[in-house]
Amino acid sequence: MSSAQSLSPEQFPARMINEFSYCPRLFYLEYVQQEWDHSADTLEGKFVHRRVDTQSGSAPAAADLEDSVRIHARSIDVGSEKLGAIARIDLLEGESGWVTPVDYKRGSAPDTPERAWEPERVQLCLQGLLLRDNGYNCDEGVIYYAKSQERVPVPFTAELIARTLEMLNEARSTAESGQIPPPLVDSPKCPRCSLVGICLPDEVNLLGPSQLPLPLQEPDSRPEPRVRNLVPARDDKLALYVQGQGHSVGLKGDLLEIRDRKEVVAKARLMQVSQLSLFGNVQLSAQALRELAARDVTILHLSYGGWLSAVTTPPPHKNIELRRRQFQAAGEKNLCLYLAQAFVSGKIRNSRTLLRRNGRELTDNVIHRLAEWRHRAEKAASLEQLLGLEGSAARDYFGNFTRMLKVSDNACATFDFTSRNRRPPRDPVNALLSFMYSMLTKDMVVTLIGAGFDPYLGFFHQPRYGRPALALDLIEEFRPLIADSVVIGLINNGEIRPSDFISRAGSVALKPDGRKRVLEAYERRLDTEVTHPVFGYSVSYRRILEVQARLLGRFLTGEIAGYAPFCTR
Ligand code: SF4
Repeated sequence: MSSAQSLSPEQFPARMINEFSYCPRLFYLEYVQQEWDHSADTLEGKFVHRRVDTQSGSAPAAADLEDSVRIHARSIDVGSEKLGAIARIDLLEGESGWVTPVDYKRGSAPDTPERAWEPERVQLCLQGLLLRDNGYNCDEGVIYYAKSQERVPVPFTAELIARTLEMLNEARSTAESGQIPPPLVDSPKCPRCSLVGICLPDEVNLLGPSQLPLPLQEPDSRPEPRVRNLVPARDDKLALYVQGQGHSVGLKGDLLEIRDRKEVVAKARLMQVSQLSLFGNVQLSAQALRELAARDVTILHLSYGGWLSAVTTPPPHKNIELRRRQFQAAGEKNLCLYLAQAFVSGKIRNSRTLLRRNGRELTDNVIHRLAEWRHRAEKAASLEQLLGLEGSAARDYFGNFTRMLKVSDNACATFDFTSRNRRPPRDPVNALLSFMYSMLTKDMVVTLIGAGFDPYLGFFHQPRYGRPALALDLIEEFRPLIADSVVIGLINNGEIRPSDFISRAGSVALKPDGRKRVLEAYERRLDTEVTHPVFGYSVSYRRILEVQARLLGRFLTGEIAGYAPFCTR
Protein backbone atom coordinates (compact mmCIF):
# COMPACT_ATOMS: atom_id res chain seq x y z
CA MET A 1 0.00 0.00 0.00
CA SER A 2 1.69 3.19 -1.12
CA SER A 3 1.25 6.36 -3.09
CA ALA A 4 2.68 4.52 -6.08
CA GLN A 5 0.00 1.82 -5.99
CA SER A 6 -1.73 1.72 -9.36
CA LEU A 7 -5.42 2.50 -9.33
CA SER A 8 -7.92 1.04 -11.72
CA PRO A 9 -10.17 3.66 -13.31
CA GLU A 10 -13.22 1.43 -12.69
CA GLN A 11 -12.75 1.68 -8.96
CA PHE A 12 -14.87 4.20 -7.18
CA PRO A 13 -12.90 7.06 -5.54
CA ALA A 14 -13.90 7.49 -1.89
CA ARG A 15 -13.98 11.27 -2.19
CA MET A 16 -16.86 10.88 -4.66
CA ILE A 17 -19.04 9.42 -1.93
CA ASN A 18 -18.58 12.73 -0.17
CA GLU A 19 -19.88 14.56 -3.27
CA PHE A 20 -22.80 12.12 -3.62
CA SER A 21 -23.81 12.61 -0.02
CA TYR A 22 -23.60 16.41 -0.46
CA CYS A 23 -25.62 16.39 -3.67
CA PRO A 24 -26.22 13.51 -6.11
CA ARG A 25 -26.20 15.97 -9.02
CA LEU A 26 -22.79 17.34 -8.00
CA PHE A 27 -21.51 13.77 -7.92
CA TYR A 28 -22.89 13.07 -11.40
CA LEU A 29 -21.44 16.27 -12.84
CA GLU A 30 -18.01 15.53 -11.42
CA TYR A 31 -17.79 11.77 -11.69
CA VAL A 32 -19.77 10.98 -14.85
CA GLN A 33 -19.56 14.21 -16.83
CA GLN A 34 -16.11 15.11 -15.46
CA GLU A 35 -17.02 18.74 -14.94
CA TRP A 36 -14.74 20.69 -12.70
CA ASP A 37 -14.49 24.26 -11.58
CA HIS A 38 -12.95 26.00 -8.63
CA SER A 39 -14.89 27.90 -6.01
CA ALA A 40 -13.34 29.76 -3.11
CA ASP A 41 -14.05 26.67 -1.01
CA THR A 42 -12.31 24.20 -3.31
CA LEU A 43 -9.29 26.49 -3.65
CA GLU A 44 -9.09 26.74 0.12
CA GLY A 45 -9.46 22.96 0.34
CA LYS A 46 -6.62 22.53 -2.14
CA PHE A 47 -4.46 24.82 -0.05
CA VAL A 48 -5.21 22.77 3.07
CA HIS A 49 -4.21 19.59 1.22
CA ARG A 50 -1.04 20.99 -0.32
CA ARG A 51 1.30 19.21 2.12
CA VAL A 52 -0.41 15.85 2.13
CA ASP A 53 -0.87 15.90 -1.64
CA THR A 54 2.69 16.73 -2.51
CA GLN A 55 4.33 14.29 -0.17
CA SER A 56 4.15 10.60 -0.80
CA GLY A 57 4.64 7.84 1.63
CA SER A 58 4.06 4.20 2.28
CA ALA A 59 2.86 2.18 5.21
CA PRO A 60 3.85 -1.33 6.27
CA ALA A 61 1.47 -4.05 5.11
CA ALA A 62 -1.04 -5.15 7.76
CA ALA A 63 0.74 -8.50 8.15
CA ASP A 64 4.01 -6.71 8.99
CA LEU A 65 2.44 -4.40 11.52
CA GLU A 66 3.79 -5.15 14.93
CA ASP A 67 2.43 -3.76 18.15
CA SER A 68 5.55 -1.74 18.69
CA VAL A 69 5.53 -0.05 15.26
CA ARG A 70 4.22 3.51 15.04
CA ILE A 71 2.92 4.70 11.68
CA HIS A 72 2.77 8.29 10.49
CA ALA A 73 2.46 8.14 6.70
CA ARG A 74 1.07 10.74 4.35
CA SER A 75 -0.82 10.45 1.08
CA ILE A 76 -1.47 6.73 1.16
CA ASP A 77 -3.42 5.01 -1.62
CA VAL A 78 -5.60 2.09 -0.65
CA GLY A 79 -8.02 0.06 -2.76
CA SER A 80 -10.26 -2.96 -2.51
CA GLU A 81 -11.57 -5.27 -5.24
CA LYS A 82 -14.37 -6.39 -2.93
CA LEU A 83 -15.66 -2.86 -2.30
CA GLY A 84 -14.70 -1.71 -5.80
CA ALA A 85 -13.37 1.49 -4.31
CA ILE A 86 -10.13 3.37 -3.80
CA ALA A 87 -9.01 6.20 -1.56
CA ARG A 88 -6.10 8.47 -1.00
CA ILE A 89 -5.70 8.86 2.72
CA ASP A 90 -4.28 12.23 3.72
CA LEU A 91 -2.53 10.85 6.79
CA LEU A 92 -2.40 7.36 8.25
CA GLU A 93 -1.52 7.05 11.89
CA GLY A 94 -0.99 3.74 13.65
CA GLU A 95 -0.08 2.37 16.99
CA SER A 96 -0.40 -0.93 18.88
CA GLY A 97 -1.49 -2.79 15.76
CA TRP A 98 -4.36 -0.37 14.94
CA VAL A 99 -4.50 2.31 12.23
CA THR A 100 -6.47 5.59 12.04
CA PRO A 101 -7.08 7.48 8.77
CA VAL A 102 -6.93 11.26 9.16
CA ASP A 103 -8.75 13.41 6.62
CA TYR A 104 -7.88 17.11 6.28
CA LYS A 105 -10.74 19.54 5.81
CA ARG A 106 -10.80 23.29 5.49
CA GLY A 107 -12.99 25.32 7.85
CA SER A 108 -14.09 24.59 11.39
CA ALA A 109 -15.89 21.66 12.94
CA PRO A 110 -19.64 22.17 12.62
CA ASP A 111 -21.82 22.63 15.65
CA THR A 112 -23.61 19.28 15.28
CA PRO A 113 -23.76 16.34 17.71
CA GLU A 114 -21.23 14.43 15.58
CA ARG A 115 -19.01 17.55 15.09
CA ALA A 116 -18.65 16.56 11.42
CA TRP A 117 -20.95 16.68 8.35
CA GLU A 118 -22.32 13.45 6.98
CA PRO A 119 -20.47 13.68 3.60
CA GLU A 120 -17.18 13.91 5.49
CA ARG A 121 -18.06 11.05 7.82
CA VAL A 122 -19.08 8.61 5.07
CA GLN A 123 -15.95 9.45 3.07
CA LEU A 124 -13.78 8.75 6.10
CA CYS A 125 -15.73 5.59 6.94
CA LEU A 126 -15.15 4.28 3.41
CA GLN A 127 -11.42 4.83 3.94
CA GLY A 128 -11.70 2.79 7.14
CA LEU A 129 -13.55 -0.02 5.35
CA LEU A 130 -10.86 -0.10 2.67
CA LEU A 131 -8.18 -0.34 5.33
CA ARG A 132 -10.05 -3.17 7.04
CA ASP A 133 -10.37 -4.95 3.72
CA ASN A 134 -6.58 -4.77 3.43
CA GLY A 135 -6.21 -6.55 6.78
CA TYR A 136 -5.77 -3.56 9.10
CA ASN A 137 -7.46 -3.10 12.44
CA CYS A 138 -9.40 0.15 12.12
CA ASP A 139 -12.49 1.24 14.02
CA GLU A 140 -12.16 5.02 14.01
CA GLY A 141 -11.00 7.88 11.82
CA VAL A 142 -10.20 11.52 12.49
CA ILE A 143 -11.19 14.67 10.64
CA TYR A 144 -8.73 17.50 11.06
CA TYR A 145 -10.32 20.92 10.57
CA ALA A 146 -7.64 23.32 9.40
CA LYS A 147 -9.32 26.57 10.42
CA SER A 148 -10.18 25.60 13.99
CA GLN A 149 -7.17 23.24 14.19
CA GLU A 150 -9.37 20.57 15.76
CA ARG A 151 -9.13 16.81 15.55
CA VAL A 152 -12.62 15.32 15.53
CA PRO A 153 -12.76 11.54 16.08
CA VAL A 154 -15.31 9.65 13.95
CA PRO A 155 -16.10 6.15 15.30
CA PHE A 156 -17.04 3.66 12.60
CA THR A 157 -20.30 2.53 14.16
CA ALA A 158 -22.55 -0.12 12.61
CA GLU A 159 -24.98 2.66 11.68
CA LEU A 160 -22.31 4.74 9.91
CA ILE A 161 -20.97 1.68 8.09
CA ALA A 162 -24.49 0.78 6.86
CA ARG A 163 -25.03 4.37 5.69
CA THR A 164 -21.67 4.38 3.91
CA LEU A 165 -22.37 1.14 2.05
CA GLU A 166 -25.85 2.38 1.15
CA MET A 167 -24.36 5.60 -0.27
CA LEU A 168 -21.74 3.63 -2.20
CA ASN A 169 -24.44 1.50 -3.85
CA GLU A 170 -26.70 4.45 -4.61
CA ALA A 171 -23.82 6.43 -6.10
CA ARG A 172 -22.89 3.52 -8.38
CA SER A 173 -26.49 3.08 -9.56
CA THR A 174 -26.77 6.81 -10.23
CA ALA A 175 -23.59 6.74 -12.29
CA GLU A 176 -24.79 3.73 -14.26
CA SER A 177 -28.29 5.14 -14.85
CA GLY A 178 -27.02 7.71 -17.36
CA GLN A 179 -29.58 10.17 -15.93
CA ILE A 180 -28.35 13.32 -14.26
CA PRO A 181 -30.21 13.84 -10.95
CA PRO A 182 -32.33 17.03 -10.79
CA PRO A 183 -30.92 20.10 -9.06
CA LEU A 184 -31.64 20.67 -5.38
CA VAL A 185 -34.49 23.10 -4.79
CA ASP A 186 -33.65 26.38 -3.05
CA SER A 187 -30.84 24.66 -1.21
CA PRO A 188 -28.35 26.60 0.91
CA LYS A 189 -25.75 24.16 -0.42
CA CYS A 190 -25.85 25.66 -3.92
CA PRO A 191 -24.26 29.06 -3.19
CA ARG A 192 -21.19 27.25 -1.84
CA CYS A 193 -21.08 24.64 -4.60
CA SER A 194 -18.08 24.82 -6.91
CA LEU A 195 -20.20 23.75 -9.91
CA VAL A 196 -23.06 26.18 -9.46
CA GLY A 197 -22.20 28.03 -12.71
CA ILE A 198 -22.26 24.73 -14.61
CA CYS A 199 -25.23 23.13 -12.85
CA LEU A 200 -27.48 26.25 -13.01
CA PRO A 201 -29.79 24.82 -10.31
CA ASP A 202 -32.37 27.58 -10.06
CA GLU A 203 -32.39 28.24 -13.81
CA VAL A 204 -32.96 24.55 -14.59
CA ASN A 205 -35.66 24.30 -11.92
CA LEU A 206 -37.38 27.39 -13.32
CA LEU A 207 -37.28 26.23 -16.93
CA GLY A 208 -37.90 22.56 -16.09
CA PRO A 209 -39.27 20.07 -18.62
CA SER A 210 -42.89 20.89 -17.81
CA GLN A 211 -42.59 24.53 -18.97
CA LEU A 212 -43.70 25.74 -22.39
CA PRO A 213 -40.88 25.94 -24.90
CA LEU A 214 -39.75 29.50 -24.30
CA PRO A 215 -39.18 30.81 -27.82
CA LEU A 216 -42.91 30.51 -28.39
CA GLN A 217 -43.73 32.61 -25.36
CA GLU A 218 -44.16 36.35 -25.48
CA PRO A 219 -41.79 38.24 -23.16
CA ASP A 220 -44.71 39.33 -20.95
CA SER A 221 -45.85 35.77 -20.35
CA ARG A 222 -42.48 34.63 -19.07
CA PRO A 223 -42.30 33.59 -15.43
CA GLU A 224 -41.55 36.29 -12.89
CA PRO A 225 -37.84 36.39 -12.01
CA ARG A 226 -37.33 34.20 -8.98
CA VAL A 227 -33.84 32.92 -9.42
CA ARG A 228 -31.05 33.46 -6.93
CA ASN A 229 -27.99 35.19 -8.29
CA LEU A 230 -25.71 32.18 -7.94
CA VAL A 231 -23.81 32.57 -11.20
CA PRO A 232 -20.73 34.73 -10.68
CA ALA A 233 -21.57 38.05 -12.34
CA ARG A 234 -18.13 38.46 -13.91
CA ASP A 235 -14.97 36.66 -14.71
CA ASP A 236 -11.87 38.08 -13.03
CA LYS A 237 -9.64 36.76 -15.78
CA LEU A 238 -9.01 38.67 -18.99
CA ALA A 239 -8.51 37.85 -22.64
CA LEU A 240 -4.99 38.61 -23.87
CA TYR A 241 -4.56 39.80 -27.47
CA VAL A 242 -1.20 39.92 -29.22
CA GLN A 243 -1.33 41.62 -32.59
CA GLY A 244 2.15 43.08 -33.08
CA GLN A 245 3.61 41.43 -36.18
CA GLY A 246 6.85 39.60 -35.44
CA HIS A 247 6.14 39.62 -31.71
CA SER A 248 6.70 36.53 -29.59
CA VAL A 249 5.09 35.23 -26.41
CA GLY A 250 7.29 33.46 -23.88
CA LEU A 251 7.15 32.31 -20.29
CA LYS A 252 9.06 33.75 -17.38
CA GLY A 253 8.03 32.33 -14.01
CA ASP A 254 4.32 32.94 -13.69
CA LEU A 255 4.33 35.69 -16.30
CA LEU A 256 3.72 35.69 -20.01
CA GLU A 257 6.20 38.06 -21.65
CA ILE A 258 5.43 39.61 -25.01
CA ARG A 259 8.54 40.63 -26.90
CA ASP A 260 9.25 42.68 -29.96
CA ARG A 261 12.52 41.04 -30.96
CA LYS A 262 14.50 41.24 -27.70
CA GLU A 263 12.56 44.00 -26.02
CA VAL A 264 9.77 43.08 -23.59
CA VAL A 265 6.74 45.20 -24.59
CA ALA A 266 4.11 43.74 -22.25
CA LYS A 267 3.64 41.23 -19.44
CA ALA A 268 0.60 39.36 -18.15
CA ARG A 269 0.14 37.19 -15.10
CA LEU A 270 -0.72 33.65 -16.15
CA MET A 271 -3.37 33.33 -13.46
CA GLN A 272 -5.20 36.36 -14.89
CA VAL A 273 -5.34 35.14 -18.49
CA SER A 274 -8.59 33.51 -19.63
CA GLN A 275 -7.61 33.05 -23.29
CA LEU A 276 -4.81 34.09 -25.63
CA SER A 277 -5.46 35.43 -29.13
CA LEU A 278 -2.53 35.57 -31.55
CA PHE A 279 -3.09 37.67 -34.67
CA GLY A 280 -1.04 36.87 -37.77
CA ASN A 281 2.67 36.43 -37.41
CA VAL A 282 3.12 35.98 -33.64
CA GLN A 283 5.23 33.21 -32.16
CA LEU A 284 4.51 31.26 -29.01
CA SER A 285 7.17 29.34 -27.10
CA ALA A 286 6.67 25.65 -26.34
CA GLN A 287 7.04 26.38 -22.62
CA ALA A 288 4.30 29.01 -22.71
CA LEU A 289 2.05 26.69 -24.70
CA ARG A 290 2.49 23.85 -22.21
CA GLU A 291 1.80 26.08 -19.23
CA LEU A 292 -1.30 27.59 -20.84
CA ALA A 293 -2.61 24.13 -21.69
CA ALA A 294 -2.04 22.99 -18.10
CA ARG A 295 -4.16 25.92 -16.96
CA ASP A 296 -6.99 25.21 -19.42
CA VAL A 297 -6.31 28.44 -21.31
CA THR A 298 -7.47 28.27 -24.91
CA ILE A 299 -5.12 29.72 -27.54
CA LEU A 300 -6.74 31.22 -30.63
CA HIS A 301 -4.72 31.64 -33.81
CA LEU A 302 -6.23 34.28 -36.06
CA SER A 303 -5.23 35.80 -39.36
CA TYR A 304 -4.05 39.38 -39.09
CA GLY A 305 -7.55 40.45 -40.16
CA GLY A 306 -9.16 38.45 -37.31
CA TRP A 307 -10.25 35.32 -39.20
CA LEU A 308 -10.10 32.32 -36.87
CA SER A 309 -7.69 29.81 -38.39
CA ALA A 310 -6.85 27.41 -35.53
CA VAL A 311 -7.61 26.74 -31.90
CA THR A 312 -5.23 25.12 -29.42
CA THR A 313 -7.02 23.63 -26.45
CA PRO A 314 -6.21 21.21 -23.68
CA PRO A 315 -7.49 17.66 -24.37
CA PRO A 316 -11.22 17.67 -25.26
CA HIS A 317 -13.80 18.06 -22.54
CA LYS A 318 -14.68 14.73 -20.95
CA ASN A 319 -18.44 15.28 -21.04
CA ILE A 320 -18.97 12.81 -23.85
CA GLU A 321 -22.73 12.59 -23.05
CA LEU A 322 -23.26 16.13 -24.28
CA ARG A 323 -21.27 15.73 -27.50
CA ARG A 324 -23.07 12.48 -28.26
CA ARG A 325 -26.42 14.22 -27.82
CA GLN A 326 -25.25 17.19 -29.92
CA PHE A 327 -24.33 14.91 -32.83
CA GLN A 328 -27.59 13.01 -32.52
CA ALA A 329 -29.66 16.22 -32.35
CA ALA A 330 -27.90 17.69 -35.40
CA GLY A 331 -29.47 14.86 -37.42
CA GLU A 332 -33.01 15.56 -36.16
CA LYS A 333 -34.67 17.82 -38.71
CA ASN A 334 -37.45 19.20 -36.50
CA LEU A 335 -35.13 19.87 -33.61
CA CYS A 336 -32.68 21.72 -35.90
CA LEU A 337 -35.53 23.86 -37.21
CA TYR A 338 -36.79 24.60 -33.70
CA LEU A 339 -33.34 25.73 -32.55
CA ALA A 340 -32.68 27.68 -35.73
CA GLN A 341 -35.99 29.50 -35.25
CA ALA A 342 -34.94 30.39 -31.71
CA PHE A 343 -31.52 31.72 -32.83
CA VAL A 344 -32.97 33.78 -35.69
CA SER A 345 -35.92 35.01 -33.64
CA GLY A 346 -33.51 36.20 -30.92
CA LYS A 347 -31.33 37.97 -33.46
CA ILE A 348 -34.23 39.78 -35.12
CA ARG A 349 -35.76 40.71 -31.79
CA ASN A 350 -32.47 42.17 -30.50
CA SER A 351 -31.81 43.96 -33.82
CA ARG A 352 -35.24 45.53 -33.57
CA THR A 353 -34.65 46.61 -29.96
CA LEU A 354 -31.30 48.19 -30.87
CA LEU A 355 -32.84 50.05 -33.79
CA ARG A 356 -35.86 51.14 -31.75
CA ARG A 357 -33.62 52.51 -29.01
CA ASN A 358 -30.99 54.22 -31.15
CA GLY A 359 -32.47 54.82 -34.61
CA ARG A 360 -33.43 58.34 -35.67
CA GLU A 361 -36.04 59.23 -38.25
CA LEU A 362 -36.76 55.62 -39.08
CA THR A 363 -38.75 55.21 -42.23
CA ASP A 364 -40.91 52.63 -43.91
CA ASN A 365 -42.25 51.29 -40.68
CA VAL A 366 -39.09 49.21 -40.23
CA ILE A 367 -39.77 48.44 -36.55
CA HIS A 368 -43.12 46.95 -37.45
CA ARG A 369 -41.62 44.95 -40.31
CA LEU A 370 -38.86 43.51 -38.10
CA ALA A 371 -41.52 42.31 -35.64
CA GLU A 372 -43.29 40.70 -38.57
CA TRP A 373 -40.08 38.99 -39.83
CA ARG A 374 -39.53 37.65 -36.33
CA HIS A 375 -43.04 36.18 -36.06
CA ARG A 376 -42.70 34.59 -39.46
CA ALA A 377 -39.26 33.23 -38.58
CA GLU A 378 -40.72 31.52 -35.51
CA LYS A 379 -43.19 29.71 -37.77
CA ALA A 380 -40.85 28.97 -40.70
CA ALA A 381 -41.54 25.57 -42.24
CA SER A 382 -37.96 24.81 -43.23
CA LEU A 383 -34.38 25.96 -42.74
CA GLU A 384 -34.37 27.30 -46.30
CA GLN A 385 -37.43 29.43 -45.63
CA LEU A 386 -35.91 30.60 -42.36
CA LEU A 387 -32.73 31.60 -44.17
CA GLY A 388 -34.79 33.74 -46.55
CA LEU A 389 -36.66 35.42 -43.68
CA GLU A 390 -33.41 36.09 -41.84
CA GLY A 391 -32.02 37.70 -45.01
CA SER A 392 -35.09 39.93 -45.35
CA ALA A 393 -34.83 41.04 -41.72
CA ALA A 394 -31.09 41.70 -42.15
CA ARG A 395 -31.74 43.87 -45.22
CA ASP A 396 -34.26 45.95 -43.28
CA TYR A 397 -32.01 46.23 -40.27
CA PHE A 398 -28.77 47.06 -42.06
CA GLY A 399 -30.65 49.32 -44.47
CA ASN A 400 -31.37 51.51 -41.44
CA PHE A 401 -28.09 50.93 -39.59
CA THR A 402 -26.70 54.41 -40.39
CA ARG A 403 -29.72 55.91 -38.64
CA MET A 404 -28.11 54.76 -35.40
CA LEU A 405 -24.83 56.54 -36.22
CA LYS A 406 -24.07 60.10 -35.21
CA VAL A 407 -21.12 61.26 -37.28
CA SER A 408 -19.61 64.67 -37.86
CA ASP A 409 -19.89 66.11 -41.35
CA ASN A 410 -16.27 65.34 -42.23
CA ALA A 411 -16.64 61.67 -41.22
CA CYS A 412 -19.96 61.21 -43.00
CA ALA A 413 -18.48 59.83 -46.20
CA THR A 414 -16.26 57.37 -44.27
CA PHE A 415 -19.08 55.88 -42.23
CA ASP A 416 -21.64 55.85 -44.98
CA PHE A 417 -23.15 52.39 -45.06
CA THR A 418 -26.00 50.84 -46.98
CA SER A 419 -25.66 47.08 -46.68
CA ARG A 420 -23.43 44.30 -45.37
CA ASN A 421 -20.47 43.23 -47.48
CA ARG A 422 -17.59 41.03 -46.41
CA ARG A 423 -14.61 38.95 -47.45
CA PRO A 424 -13.20 41.48 -47.83
CA PRO A 425 -15.20 44.31 -46.25
CA ARG A 426 -15.31 47.25 -48.65
CA ASP A 427 -16.03 50.13 -46.28
CA PRO A 428 -15.11 51.06 -42.66
CA VAL A 429 -18.47 50.15 -41.09
CA ASN A 430 -18.37 46.72 -42.71
CA ALA A 431 -14.75 46.31 -41.63
CA LEU A 432 -15.73 47.05 -38.03
CA LEU A 433 -18.75 44.75 -38.13
CA SER A 434 -16.77 41.89 -39.67
CA PHE A 435 -14.02 42.26 -37.11
CA MET A 436 -16.50 42.30 -34.22
CA TYR A 437 -18.35 39.24 -35.53
CA SER A 438 -15.02 37.41 -35.76
CA MET A 439 -14.20 38.28 -32.15
CA LEU A 440 -17.66 37.20 -31.00
CA THR A 441 -17.31 33.91 -32.90
CA LYS A 442 -13.93 33.37 -31.32
CA ASP A 443 -15.37 33.90 -27.82
CA MET A 444 -18.28 31.60 -28.50
CA VAL A 445 -15.87 28.91 -29.73
CA VAL A 446 -13.98 29.15 -26.43
CA THR A 447 -17.23 29.11 -24.45
CA LEU A 448 -18.59 26.08 -26.30
CA ILE A 449 -15.37 24.12 -25.89
CA GLY A 450 -15.45 24.89 -22.15
CA ALA A 451 -19.07 23.72 -21.92
CA GLY A 452 -18.25 20.42 -23.63
CA PHE A 453 -19.67 21.03 -27.12
CA ASP A 454 -18.08 20.53 -30.50
CA PRO A 455 -18.21 24.10 -31.86
CA TYR A 456 -18.02 22.88 -35.47
CA LEU A 457 -21.38 21.09 -35.61
CA GLY A 458 -24.39 23.41 -35.62
CA PHE A 459 -28.13 23.23 -36.05
CA PHE A 460 -28.79 26.26 -38.26
CA HIS A 461 -25.42 26.87 -39.88
CA GLN A 462 -24.36 23.85 -41.85
CA PRO A 463 -20.95 22.27 -41.28
CA ARG A 464 -18.33 23.37 -43.76
CA TYR A 465 -14.59 22.91 -43.49
CA GLY A 466 -13.20 25.20 -40.81
CA ARG A 467 -16.53 26.84 -40.02
CA PRO A 468 -17.48 26.81 -36.32
CA ALA A 469 -21.17 26.28 -37.13
CA LEU A 470 -22.48 25.96 -33.58
CA ALA A 471 -20.61 29.10 -32.51
CA LEU A 472 -22.19 30.94 -35.46
CA ASP A 473 -25.61 29.63 -34.38
CA LEU A 474 -25.27 30.81 -30.82
CA ILE A 475 -23.86 34.25 -31.60
CA GLU A 476 -26.91 35.16 -33.68
CA GLU A 477 -28.78 36.58 -30.70
CA PHE A 478 -25.67 38.42 -29.51
CA ARG A 479 -24.64 40.10 -32.78
CA PRO A 480 -26.80 43.21 -32.22
CA LEU A 481 -26.31 43.32 -28.44
CA ILE A 482 -22.53 42.98 -28.39
CA ALA A 483 -20.93 43.44 -31.82
CA ASP A 484 -23.23 46.03 -33.44
CA SER A 485 -23.53 47.89 -30.18
CA VAL A 486 -19.72 48.22 -29.92
CA VAL A 487 -19.49 49.50 -33.51
CA ILE A 488 -22.21 52.10 -32.92
CA GLY A 489 -20.58 53.23 -29.67
CA LEU A 490 -17.12 53.53 -31.23
CA ILE A 491 -18.35 55.68 -34.10
CA ASN A 492 -20.79 57.80 -32.09
CA ASN A 493 -18.28 58.51 -29.31
CA GLY A 494 -15.58 59.41 -31.82
CA GLU A 495 -13.34 56.63 -30.52
CA ILE A 496 -12.74 55.48 -34.04
CA ARG A 497 -12.00 57.94 -36.84
CA PRO A 498 -11.61 57.82 -40.63
CA SER A 499 -7.83 57.87 -40.16
CA ASP A 500 -7.99 54.51 -38.32
CA PHE A 501 -8.65 52.64 -41.58
CA ILE A 502 -6.53 51.64 -44.49
CA SER A 503 -7.90 50.85 -47.93
CA ARG A 504 -6.12 48.57 -50.39
CA ALA A 505 -7.40 47.06 -53.62
CA GLY A 506 -11.03 47.64 -52.67
CA SER A 507 -10.64 46.12 -49.23
CA VAL A 508 -10.81 48.16 -46.03
CA ALA A 509 -9.09 47.20 -42.76
CA LEU A 510 -8.33 48.70 -39.37
CA LYS A 511 -4.86 50.03 -38.60
CA PRO A 512 -3.16 48.57 -35.48
CA ASP A 513 -3.96 51.51 -33.15
CA GLY A 514 -7.59 51.60 -34.21
CA ARG A 515 -7.86 47.88 -33.76
CA LYS A 516 -6.47 48.12 -30.25
CA ARG A 517 -9.20 50.62 -29.37
CA VAL A 518 -11.84 48.39 -30.96
CA LEU A 519 -10.68 45.42 -28.89
CA GLU A 520 -10.71 47.51 -25.72
CA ALA A 521 -14.29 48.60 -26.45
CA TYR A 522 -15.27 45.01 -27.21
CA GLU A 523 -13.84 43.74 -23.92
CA ARG A 524 -15.60 46.56 -22.07
CA ARG A 525 -18.86 45.49 -23.66
CA LEU A 526 -18.34 41.88 -22.63
CA ASP A 527 -17.79 43.08 -19.07
CA THR A 528 -20.96 45.19 -19.07
CA GLU A 529 -23.55 43.82 -16.68
CA VAL A 530 -27.16 43.51 -17.79
CA THR A 531 -30.24 42.22 -16.07
CA HIS A 532 -31.22 38.84 -17.35
CA PRO A 533 -34.78 39.15 -18.69
CA VAL A 534 -35.87 35.70 -17.54
CA PHE A 535 -33.82 35.08 -14.40
CA GLY A 536 -33.81 38.67 -13.18
CA TYR A 537 -30.21 38.74 -11.99
CA SER A 538 -27.43 41.00 -13.11
CA VAL A 539 -24.66 39.34 -15.07
CA SER A 540 -21.98 40.35 -17.60
CA TYR A 541 -22.37 39.61 -21.30
CA ARG A 542 -19.31 37.37 -21.03
CA ARG A 543 -21.12 35.24 -18.45
CA ILE A 544 -24.34 35.28 -20.45
CA LEU A 545 -22.52 33.69 -23.39
CA GLU A 546 -21.70 30.80 -21.06
CA VAL A 547 -25.15 30.63 -19.45
CA GLN A 548 -26.78 30.41 -22.91
CA ALA A 549 -24.35 27.69 -24.04
CA ARG A 550 -25.03 25.67 -20.89
CA LEU A 551 -28.79 26.14 -21.21
CA LEU A 552 -28.57 24.81 -24.75
CA GLY A 553 -26.80 21.77 -23.31
CA ARG A 554 -29.48 21.34 -20.63
CA PHE A 555 -32.15 21.52 -23.33
CA LEU A 556 -30.44 18.97 -25.56
CA THR A 557 -30.08 16.54 -22.66
CA GLY A 558 -33.79 16.93 -21.81
CA GLU A 559 -33.50 18.84 -18.56
CA ILE A 560 -35.36 21.94 -19.68
CA ALA A 561 -38.28 22.36 -22.04
CA GLY A 562 -36.85 24.73 -24.60
CA TYR A 563 -34.02 26.99 -25.64
CA ALA A 564 -34.82 30.66 -25.05
CA PRO A 565 -32.56 33.15 -26.83
CA PHE A 566 -31.23 35.98 -24.69
CA CYS A 567 -33.26 39.06 -25.57
CA THR A 568 -33.26 42.47 -23.98
CA ARG A 569 -36.47 44.42 -23.71
S1 SF4 B 1 -25.41 23.82 -7.46
FE1 SF4 B 1 -26.73 22.81 -5.95
S2 SF4 B 1 -27.92 21.33 -7.15
FE2 SF4 B 1 -26.19 21.95 -8.40
S3 SF4 B 1 -24.63 20.43 -8.06
FE3 SF4 B 1 -24.24 22.09 -6.64
S4 SF4 B 1 -25.33 21.57 -4.77
FE4 SF4 B 1 -26.13 20.25 -6.38
